[in-house]
Amino acid sequence: MDEVDITIIGAGVVGLAIAAELSGQYDNIIVLERHPAYGRETSSRNSEVMHAGIYYPNGSLKARLCVEGLELLYGYCERHSIPHSKIGKLIVATEQSEFAQLEELMAQGLRNGVSGLSIIDGASLTDLEPNVAALAAIYSPRTGIIDSHSLMKYLYADATASGVTFSFGSEVDRITPGKDGNVIGIRDEDYNFSSKVVINSAGLFADRIAGLAGIDIEKAGYKLSYYKGSYFSYSKASPVKRLVYPLPHKDLTGLGVHATLDLAGRLRFGPDAEHVDAPDYTVDAGKADSFYNGASRFIRGLEKAAFVADMAGIRPKLQGGGVRDFIIKNEIGRGMNGFINLIGIESPGLTACLSIAKYVSALVGDSHLLKRVIA
Ligand SMILES: Cc1cc2nc3c(=O)[nH]c(=O)nc-3n(C[C@H](O)[C@H](O)[C@H](O)COP(=O)(O)OP(=O)(O)OC[C@H]3O[C@@H](n4cnc5c(N)ncnc54)[C@H](O)[C@@H]3O)c2cc1C
Repeated sequence: MDEVDITIIGAGVVGLAIAAELSGQYDNIIVLERHPAYGRETSSRNSEVMHAGIYYPNGSLKARLCVEGLELLYGYCERHSIPHSKIGKLIVATEQSEFAQLEELMAQGLRNGVSGLSIIDGASLTDLEPNVAALAAIYSPRTGIIDSHSLMKYLYADATASGVTFSFGSEVDRITPGKDGNVIGIRDEDYNFSSKVVINSAGLFADRIAGLAGIDIEKAGYKLSYYKGSYFSYSKASPVKRLVYPLPHKDLTGLGVHATLDLAGRLRFGPDAEHVDAPDYTVDAGKADSFYNGASRFIRGLEKAAFVADMAGIRPKLQGGGVRDFIIKNEIGRGMNGFINLIGIESPGLTACLSIAKYVSALVGDSHLLKRVIA
């Protein structure tokens, strides 16, 4: 049977970043992706915001990998001329009753090590953004936006140049973990091969991949549910220059319908958060009213007719309520050394892709299954 050293399942931004990171250290890496190209799912359906790391519980992987990942990503973008912009973000309180939550969020950001944060009053806010209607705001000047497609293109080129093989149109549907490696099979093919290390970076289907490998995903707490986030684009000129967010939902199901800009200065609102049983990317045009009403709470002068149904993305949420952290672990405790699961990689997965890749690289090293070609 053919054998590879490392198999990465999934070529979203996280799988690509892992491939690029490991390609400098190990030989014989394959990436299996069920679509005909990389980045066809969540990695192409998000806000493209480089988050500063304010929201996530202190000490969580989300907080740590976001704060580290932001700096790594700015460096990567600058070194490789990937389009991005540090446009800054405002999280606004529109009523006095929200001040306590604003202050708590500010303290959370400081605890997480986010730099450059300040709370500004209504007058300073008006100087920065005359069309924002709020009493106070957290100002995060280091939050930015990125062209995620250029990022993925560069990561893909980086990995292939260092010898990683990509197999597109290859959906993993069989995994048998064993002492000497994992036997992997592809849908509609009889061919099986063996891999010493398997990295499950399958996004919305990462729980299924763990299940295929024999893990009881209900018992392990790995089961995902899906929360759709729809966007509406704004067809007129943007009345704001920065990202503007309301205060987030308490359980971080979503960050609240907010204003995001792309690198061409086009304004979009979203994403909202709606539970769906299965991935479904349709956007209900009937939501225009509620988007308009939500956005008009903190931006003046918006026109309802300019709200146009745009796209949707799906969050892979770990079940169990509250704020769940990323699961990124070598399953050595289940007798599966070298089987590395990444489950629940929702936001800030794009921001954190490079730090996640470094974290996974350390797990691969700790498995002691492979010899590094470069130390
Ligand atoms: C609405 C929304 C807004 C967001 N906004 C932001 C943001 O502004 N900033 C930020 O940092 N993050 C944001 N995120 C989160 C970010 O987009 C994700 O964390 C990131 O894209 C996850 O990347 P991934 O590679 O893990 O997953 P994916 O992009 O989903 O890639 C997984 C890949 O695995 C493949 N796959 C699945 N099953 C199999 C199989 N059996 N065999 C082979 N291949 C398989 C899929 O086809 C897919 O290509 C947002 C997410 C959503 C939903």
